[in-house]
Amino acid sequence: MIAVKNVNKTFGTNQVLTDVSLEVPKSHVVAIIGPSGAGKSTLIRTINALEPIDNGEIIVDGISIHDKKVDINKARSEIGFVFQSFNLYPFLTALQNVTLAPINVKGLSKGEAEKRGKELLTSLGLGDKFDAYPNRLSGGQQQRVAIARALAMEPRVMLFDEPTSALDPEMVTEVLDAIRKLAEDGMTMVVVTHEMGFAKEICDEIIFMAEGKVVEQASPDKFFSNPNTERARNFLSKVL
Ligand code: ADP
Ligand code: MG
Repeated sequence: MIAVKNVNKTFGTNQVLTDVSLEVPKSHVVAIIGPSGAGKSTLIRTINALEPIDNGEIIVDGISIHDKKVDINKARSEIGFVFQSFNLYPFLTALQNVTLAPINVKGLSKGEAEKRGKELLTSLGLGDKFDAYPNRLSGGQQQRVAIARALAMEPRVMLFDEPTSALDPEMVTEVLDAIRKLAEDGMTMVVVTHEMGFAKEICDEIIFMAEGKVVEQASPDKFFSNPNTERARNFLSKVL
């Protein structure tokens, strides 16, 4: 479903991604972990072309998304992205946040979009928050609205960049539970996370990055019990 092939990316003279390759089969969940500055956010942003790449290729559901001939808005509408910082529209209600793109980009009628939006919000435990504005919602609730908003476009894959890092500890579980449910429903996902317990439990594969490179790629069992590299052992000793 997702193939990243020999991707290199620089910011000025800073080589941020070096020959990064990975594959995510349909319905698999891959966690990207690693120290701050490793290039995790940059990598995940290249997967929906929020960042250009210097060379290499990224294919999502058969579409080479950095190909100049590709309609990037159409390609991007197949890829749900959830940021650390929610990024809801503050002047729209929860339901309006969720229905905006389906109406404007997909051309759904307001009625259809609202029906689907209400179902999504309800499935994420927000059945009583349709008309709430973001500033009246907790961080965990806002992040669940952000997940509903991404799902409303019926994406083929979902990307998460540290979806719980900006949350108070007591709200982390509700957001991880929402992602767990998506995994159970067979959504293909890439999740940048510092939640090692979650990565171990939910993910099919762990990708450990450091200094712009994929250092290890292994099953959670293997990675957490017996990593191959000193770099990963050192990282795990600090976070576990
Ligand atoms: P991570 O998410 O693993 O913490 P990032 O992908 O955010 O790492 O950053 C990797 C490197 O790229 C860092 O050295 C960071 O300073 C640099 N970087 C990230 N975004 C930009 C940008 N827009 N312009 C210049 N440098 C950037
Ligand atoms: Mg980051």
